[in-house]
Amino acid sequence: MCLGRDQHDVGHCNRARLWDDSRATRCTRNARDRLAVGDTEICLAWQLPNGCQSTNHLERHACSGCGDTSHGANGCPLAQEA
Ligand SMILES: [Zn+2]
Ligand SMILES: [Zn+2]
Ligand SMILES: [Zn+2]
Repeated sequence: MCLGRDQHDVGHCNRARLWDDSRATRCTRNARDRLAVGDTEICLAWQLPNGCQSTNHLERHACSGCGDTSHGANGCPLAQEA
């Protein structure tokens, strides 16, 4: 995701750069239209305000914007201000 808060379909966001055009997004869409960092699909729930409670796929808990594993897109310091 681009981390932008403008109205667009974030579930299918296909932007190659962050909302402010400052850098390329960390994740890409793979062949199955899932968000992925490299070969690892990332958790979509992790990007949302409520986060993801699962501990079964911790390697997927990476930020779709910057790739950091300490937060999801909603908590990313690079995200556009609300
Ligand atoms: Zn977007
Ligand atoms: Zn998850
Ligand atoms: Zn981030």
